[in-house]
Amino acid sequence: QFTADAAHELRSPLTALSLQAQLAERAIAPEQRAQALQTLRQGIDRASHLVQQLLTLARLEPEVGDSPLKPLFLDDLARNVVADFAPLAANRHIDLGLTRADHVLVAGAEEALRILLGNLIDNAIRYSPTNTRIDVSVFKDAKTVRLEVNDTGTGIALDERDRVFDRFYRVLNSAESGSGLGLAIAKRIADQHQADITLRDGDGGMGLKVIVTFPENRE
Ligand code: ATP
Ligand code: MG
Repeated sequence: QFTADAAHELRSPLTALSLQAQLAERAIAPEQRAQALQTLRQGIDRASHLVQQLLTLARLEPEVGDSPLKPLFLDDLARNVVADFAPLAANRHIDLGLTRADHVLVAGAEEALRILLGNLIDNAIRYSPTNTRIDVSVFKDAKTVRLEVNDTGTGIALDERDRVFDRFYRVLNSAESGSGLGLAIAKRIADQHQADITLRDGDGGMGLKVIVTFPENRE
C-alpha cells in the first residue's frame, strides 16, 4: 500500500515538471525563459522534498525494525534541534527559543526524535506569519515528560486535527507547499516511543500547541 501511495503522490509532481520543462523549451524571450526555469527549479525542489520525506517514512516502517531505545536527555536534544532551526526561523523573523528545559532522561532513538521535533518546528515556522514567536519546552513532573511546541500561526481547525496525521493530508488553501508527510512521520516516531501526540490551541488562544507526552518517567 505504501509503495502504491508513494507512486501515486509522485505522479503529479513529475507531470508538472515535465510541463514546466516544456514551457522552458518553448520560451523565446530570455526573461520568459528565466522565469520558466525558476518555476522548474522550484518544482524540482518540491519533488526532492517529497522523495526525502517518503524515504524517512519508509525507514520508519515497523517491518524495517525499530531502532533500539537508549536513555537520552530530552532537553539536550531539544536544545540541539532548536539551534538547527535557528537560521530558518531568523529568515522569517520568528523568535524561536527553548523556553523551558527540564533536565530529563527518556528512552529514545536519537535520530528519530530529532526528526520528530524537527518536523514540528518546521511546521510551526512554515505556518506562522513573520515576526511571531515559537516556544519549545521540555517539562518533567511527577507523572510525565512532555515536549511542547507552541506557535502563534494559523492553527489547525478542530475537525482537521485528526486528519493532519494521515499521510499526504494537507489543509486546503495553505500558501506553503509541503508533502503532507511531516506529521505522519512524527506520529510514527511517537508510536515507536509509546508517546502520544496531541494538538491544542496555542497559548493565548491562537496558533497551535503540539504536545508529545512520553511514558511515565521512571527515574
Ligand atoms: P511536509 O511536512 O511533509 O513537508 P506538510 O507540512 O504539508 O508537508 P504535515 O507536516 O504533515 O505536512 O502537516 C499537515 C498539514 O497540517 C499541513 O499541510 C498544514 O496545513 C497543517 N499544519 C501542520 N502544522 C501546523 C501548524 N503548526 N500550524 C498550522 N497548520 C499546521
Ligand atoms: Mg510539515
